[in-house]
Amino acid sequence: TVVNLDGKLVPPAKATISVFDRGFLYGDSVYEVVRTYRRRPFELDAHLARLARSAGRLGLEPAWDAPRTRRELLATLAAVPPEADPDPEAAPWNQGQLSLRVIMTRGAGELGLDPALAVEPRALVIASPLRAPPLAAYRAGVGCRIVGVRHEAPGAVDPGAKTGAHLANVLAVREARASGAHEALLLGAGGQVTEGASSNVFAVRAGALVTPPLGAGILAGVTRALVLELAREAGLPAREAPLLPADLAGAEELFLTSTAREILPVTSLDGRPAGGGRVGPVTTRLGALFRARADRAAGG
Ligand code: PMP
Repeated sequence: TVVNLDGKLVPPAKATISVFDRGFLYGDSVYEVVRTYRRRPFELDAHLARLARSAGRLGLEPAWDAPRTRRELLATLAAVPPEADPDPEAAPWNQGQLSLRVIMTRGAGELGLDPALAVEPRALVIASPLRAPPLAAYRAGVGCRIVGVRHEAPGAVDPGAKTGAHLANVLAVREARASGAHEALLLGAGGQVTEGASSNVFAVRAGALVTPPLGAGILAGVTRALVLELAREAGLPAREAPLLPADLAGAEELFLTSTAREILPVTSLDGRPAGGGRVGPVTTRLGALFRARADRAAGG
């Protein structure tokens, strides 16, 4: 792991932030997680654009603009030595890969909610080994649990912004893991499933891809957008429409998307087989298209 704090590479144990930092106190921060293929960042432009949008939605003036963020991220990546012992359970394309977390906080200041109390914004990058599901999970699929989130919890204040205030999502994952599920699927106020705690959700229904619309109160996933683009290119019917728990339970196939998971099949829901109980043909096809796209982006 390599940490870049305000533009300086520092040993992880020395990379510290003030207890008065508003990111720590209030979750008053925004972040992005970028992954690499063959040690090259994937979809970096889309992540930088979303970071700027997230900051804008909070009125947070980031310490680094997008060009500086790109430079700092690449400098951090370049400082990570090659992995000595790759995880044998990881999928081959994930072995030795990194996750690059960029965090922008509004900074420290006197105690108090008013953002005007913040003195100086901080920026940092953490480059660490990618934690992706093991190869077996892509082959067999994972389980999900549908969790009702407390909408007054901070994570739900602005689901469209990737903020540090993720408590609703933390609690949802806690509940999902307690039942042995890989991911929590969040129930929106209207009773529809909106997204995963750190992923977007897709169903295949009557042969067509369905995923909740951005207006449902979800994060505009970079992977979600890419999957919709790949489907369009392949002539696969896809639409953005609400999904109720019953729609998921009755779907022909289910999968999650996120930067680290890519396209991850879901084969059980609330402890019952779902999505046909196996990895379906549409998921397999999209997975292959995704692999090809990632390979090409990495110069393969
Ligand atoms: N929804 C939420 C709430 C998330 O935290 C994430 C992870 N960033 C996603 C969806 C998936 O987004 P992406 O594909 O950009 O990683």
